[in-house]
Order: sequence, then C-alpha cells, then structure tokens
Amino acid sequence: MQIGVPKEIKSQEFRVGLTPEAVGELTANGHSLYVETGAGQGIDASDEHYQQAGANILPHAEAVFSTAELIVKVKEPQPSECDLLGPQHILFTYLHLAPDKALTDALMNSGATCIAYETVTDDQGRLPLLRPMSQVAGRLSAQAGAQALESIFGGRGLLMGGVPGVMPARVTVIGGGVVGQNAIQIALGMGAEVTVLDRSPEVLERLSHQFGPALKTLYATGSSLEGAVLDSDLVISAVLVSGAGAPKLVTRDMVKRMNSGAVLVDVAIDQGGCFETSQPTTHADPTYVMDGVVHYCVANMPGAVPRTSTQALTNATLPHVLSLADQGWREALRADSNLRNGLNVTDGVLTCVPVAQSQGRNA
Ligand code: NAD
Repeated sequence: MQIGVPKEIKSQEFRVGLTPEAVGELTANGHSLYVETGAGQGIDASDEHYQQAGANILPHAEAVFSTAELIVKVKEPQPSECDLLGPQHILFTYLHLAPDKALTDALMNSGATCIAYETVTDDQGRLPLLRPMSQVAGRLSAQAGAQALESIFGGRGLLMGGVPGVMPARVTVIGGGVVGQNAIQIALGMGAEVTVLDRSPEVLERLSHQFGPALKTLYATGSSLEGAVLDSDLVISAVLVSGAGAPKLVTRDMVKRMNSGAVLVDVAIDQGGCFETSQPTTHADPTYVMDGVVHYCVANMPGAVPRTSTQALTNATLPHVLSLADQGWREALRADSNLRNGLNVTDGVLTCVPVAQSQGRNA
C-alpha cells in the first residue's frame, strides 16, 4: 500500500506519525512510504534517515495526500489537511471528535475512512493507543504543575517536596487510570503529599497496593472531591469516560474558593476538560490565571517531549498500520474487532456511538 506521513502542523506539535525505524519495517513488508520533507525534524530524524529506511521524500502535504492511500499522523487534521482528504483515504491518527462537531462534519464531508487511535481497544477493553501518551502526559502533568506552583508563574510559591522542616505541596489527582497513576508516581517521587480520587474501588485498591501508605485514596463523590480540591495546592484532572466528553467535576464556584495561587492541570482538556474554568492552551503559552488559580490546559502535552512520545506512540501503532496496509482497511477491521472499534467515520457516516451520543447525533 502507499502510506503517507505528512509533517504535523498543529501549533507546537513536534511529533511525527512514524519513526524511520517504523518506516523501515513497513518498507520491508513491501509497502511504499511517502514522507513530507522535514516531517521528522522535531525528533531529530532527517529526510536522509527516512530515505535510508526506504521512504520517498515529498515536498509538501498536498503531494503526500495526493500520492498516499493510508495517511498516518499524530494529531487531528487541521482545516487545510481536511481540505486534502477524499474518499480514497484511510486516515489513522488521534481524532478526539467528541467535543469537536466542526471537525466531525469536515471528516464526514470528506468521504474518508477515519480510524481514531483513542477508540481502538485491546482484549481487556482498554485503550492501548491512548496508553503511551497517557503515560507521558501523566508524568508531565506533575512536572508542569510543580513549575506552575512557582511564584513567577502565578503559583503559591511552593516547592513540591518542601524541605526538611517545611511541609510539602498537597496534590490531588482526580482519576487513577494511566494518566493518574503516572502523575502520582512523579508527584510522590518529588516528595509531595498526594491524594487520588476515583469512582472505581478496584482502581483505588490497585493504586493503594502499588504505592502503599504514601498515597491517600478517596472514593470520588461530589463532597469528597470538593473537600480535596479546596484543600489542595495542585489538582490534576485525569478522568476519562471512553469516547465521550469529560465530566465537569470542578465548578467555577469551587475554583473561586480554592487557595490563591493554587494550580489546576487539566489533562482531560483534550476531551473538553474537567474544570468549568478550563480553556485549551498551547505549549507556547501554557498557563493563565482565572479567579486567582493558575490553569495549565495544554491539549497535546506529549508534544513537549516529541522524541519520547513519538517512539512510544509508534511502538503501539505500528502493528495496526501493518495490518491496515497488509490487508486493506475493510479486511483488517473485519478480522480485528479491537481495531474496528477505532472506526469513527467512513463514507460520510459517523460510526462511533459514544462520539455520536456526546454530540446528540445518530451513529
Ligand atoms: P483511563 O481510562 O486510564 O483512566 C481514567 C480514570 O478516570 C479511570 O480510572 C476512571 O475510573 C476514572 N473516572 C471516570 N469518571 C470519574 C469520575 N467522575 N471521578 C473520578 N474518577 C473518574 O484514562 P487515561 O488514559 O488515564 O486518560 C485520562 C484523560 O487524560 C483522558 O481524558 C485523556 O483523553 C487525557 N489525555 C490528555 C492528554 C493531553 O495531552 N492533554 C494526553 C493523554 C491523555
């Protein structure tokens, strides 16, 4: 199959859909690879690296889209990329359509077959293509929160771990899945006092077992959540309702009553965010202060560490890229119900039920 890798054009996005190593695997399996010039710049992979792996280098995105059938990307297509999509394309990338009706319409109008990384499942019903980026975002969320607590960023002027004789920062993590577990690991490693809230007793038991008494666990109810948030220096949102928008768990009223200079890191912002006061931000300008509280709401956090992120992502996507390319999308999806769950749009129809429900449409 003809496989295309355009350069990512979303603001401050330095990852790329396939590493040169992954391109080598695909060419070794008989596929033709078309990579946009400079696509690997952000991970220090030059055009020559891709050529040595067997790829053809093309001068711009238009050339990649007009040559390739399977387009492998990282972020959702931007408007100029949507204009290049047609019924001949299979798009394999993160889409996060639930909060984005305009993009959903654009993809339906394109006629392309769009398979979203974030709704592909594994045999346990987990989301294996979200997992590596969730690991990265979770670890980064504690780092970003620690930095935002510094006075020059508007924070309370607290060091996460304190020092001997001085109390550490109090960190609350809402949601103890992949992001939450990784955020907890780094925040505890920095010496913070950490509490996690989740709706799942099994998740709380697993985390309690993993981290021991250093971690406080709380079942998430409206009042336990409010108490923990108001008592915190840093709150990290790490909630997911599969394929749907994030629930607004922290209201503006709660934010107004938080400690002045406290920090909110809304990792779930890519699904609309868990704080009523959240607005998406970019790496170029990641924080803003509202009601005296610092908000960090970067929707593509792993883009800050593109080398780690691209390698981790490609490790997870490559087997699926291979099966789409080897078998064609219809046969690959027929043979693999987990990959089939990734199908969001095809032939002008929205096929992902949770996305359709969250937009009030039929699937
Ligand atoms: P996950 O499914 O592993 O974990 C989600 C957890 O949230 C689960 O343990 C679930 O029980 C819990 N939960 C659900 N509803 C809850 C509620 N009302 N109160 C408390 N807990 C609740 O998901 P994940 O991979 O950890 O992803 C978490 C979020 O981070 C998602 O929204 C994902 O899209 C987002 N994310 C963002 C970025 C970014 O760059 N901003 C990167 C990766 C992931």
